Amino acid sequence: MADPHGFQKYARAAAEHRPVPLRLLDWKEVYEDFSDDKVQVQATRCMDCGIPFCHDGCPLGNLIPEWNDLVRQGRWKEAYDRLHATNNFPEFTGRLCPAPCEGACVLGIGDDPVNIKTVELTIVEHAYDEGWIVPIKPTFKTGQSVAVVGSGPAGMAAAQQLTRAGHDVTLFERADRVGGLMRYGVPEFKMQKEWIDRRIEQMEAEGTKFQLNTSPTGEDLKNFDAVVLAIGSTVGRDLPVDGRELDGVHQAMEYLPLANRVGYGDTDTTPIDAKGKHVVIIGGGDTGTDCYGTALRQGAKSVHQFDIGPKPPESRAESTPWPTYPLKMRLASAHEEGDYSITGEEPAELVEKLGLGDREKGTVLGNRGWSINTVELTGENGQVTGLKGAECRFGEKGLENIEGTDFEMKADLVLLAMGFVSVERTPVVADLDLDVDQRGRLVRDETFRATANSDEFRDTPVFVAGDAGRGQSLIVWGIAEGRAVAAEVDRALMGDTALPRPINPTDVALRA
Ligand SMILES: Cc1cc2nc3c(=O)[nH]c(=O)nc-3n(C[C@H](O)[C@H](O)[C@H](O)COP(=O)(O)OP(=O)(O)OC[C@H]3O[C@@H](n4cnc5c(N)ncnc54)[C@H](O)[C@@H]3O)c2cc1C
Ligand code: SF4
Repeated sequence: MADPHGFQKYARAAAEHRPVPLRLLDWKEVYEDFSDDKVQVQATRCMDCGIPFCHDGCPLGNLIPEWNDLVRQGRWKEAYDRLHATNNFPEFTGRLCPAPCEGACVLGIGDDPVNIKTVELTIVEHAYDEGWIVPIKPTFKTGQSVAVVGSGPAGMAAAQQLTRAGHDVTLFERADRVGGLMRYGVPEFKMQKEWIDRRIEQMEAEGTKFQLNTSPTGEDLKNFDAVVLAIGSTVGRDLPVDGRELDGVHQAMEYLPLANRVGYGDTDTTPIDAKGKHVVIIGGGDTGTDCYGTALRQGAKSVHQFDIGPKPPESRAESTPWPTYPLKMRLASAHEEGDYSITGEEPAELVEKLGLGDREKGTVLGNRGWSINTVELTGENGQVTGLKGAECRFGEKGLENIEGTDFEMKADLVLLAMGFVSVERTPVVADLDLDVDQRGRLVRDETFRATANSDEFRDTPVFVAGDAGRGQSLIVWGIAEGRAVAAEVDRALMGDTALPRPINPTDVALRA
């Protein structure tokens, strides 16, 4: 039984962020330590309300009130066992999930919701510190082989579940490292990549084989007993305006992976560097925000991020009532950095790195704008130099620019972060002759089975998981789909399965 008065005694609290002038000097995560004692107090705020809407808010169905109460009592090992029963990688979700569970928390109706995400992260980090996270090797081998293509959260979760169920799993990844968008999209300051490497060690010890730098062909896959495609949805939406072809205009995912390689220490420089440039980011979502924090760390002269949609309200919009995920204004750590106003007393190292010497006191490092439409990109000698835009609204005829609001501004690096529209047509898509729907997703049925029209794959079950089937989504959905597809693969190969399947079949079918 939870403490019935916990939420009355304690207010919501979270880890502080490191001071902006310090964190802009490095690529490390922005959080200060938040002690286990403080996390126990946060867990005590859980009311154990009876009908845990947070379970339903979490795509993994995490058993939140159970582990909150165990943490409250200091029973960390049991809390980890309960968390691990539903989530293979709480260290990823605990850092990166937007926490739809908190939007569904019953306490959130009249107070601040429980800080579920922090409790989740602390449980898993406590487990690592105590040495409880060890390889879980299969107790028997099935003799069946499975190829998983793509090593984002969906591919990693599918591979781990299937290996533990006794299958021989090979995880193919075309990049030089495992992790998908978590590796080369998400910057270090949101999640340090050593946490992915730590998990890979566990997976290797359990028996998953990794084949990196490999985009497999049909020939490479045809001898496996089953194939899972978890290849993501990575084709970025483009901006059809004059000037799009100019140098200095890039998709976010051309920019971020190169910057991330500097963050890891692979190289000292990147060919797309924001240093000393006026940067404009088109797109107000997570990807744009990651570009924003990256450009600030590179020493951009100015950074603007434009959203075509209106500014969200400060508190939950009426259109997203409890327990749905609330539309409201959010302040990402990168935005906190952009809001930093120059005092003139910054450390010399920062002044040098960001080139602050010629900027006036009181100037903020970044700016955000809402209801802004980009009309044209202008340039000289083939290089982008400016952006023409206007304020806009969604009227009866769709998006319209508001008369008299036109503006022009300097821009010598323009980053497009307007979402993702499709899977990439890599060799595997053509070789297996997979159906792609109008929204650029690989077609699948409610058991995640794809239609592989190639004769060579008539007898091989082929499955689709993660963004490749769902469209660009979230890490938590990737893990949930990876777990669910593993159950379906196991069932197809063995006739039955004991693996959990967190996603309801009708949810998969409804998205088709
Ligand atoms: C910049 C950015 C920031 C984000 N931030 C967050 C966040 O903070 N929180 C959150 O929840 N979500 C975030 N997301 C979304 C999240 O990263 C994705 O929804 C999630 O990674 C999808 O997982 P996935 O496994 O389906 O695909 P992906 O992570 O896209 O992984 C697919 C993998 O397949 C590989 N691949 C593709 N084709 C082939 C092939 N033919 N052969 C071999 N390998 C192949 C790719 O190289 C890639 O490694 C972010 C996305 C971006 C772009
Ligand atoms: S995975 Fe996301 S939705 Fe689920 S409990 Fe963790 S923070 Fe909440």
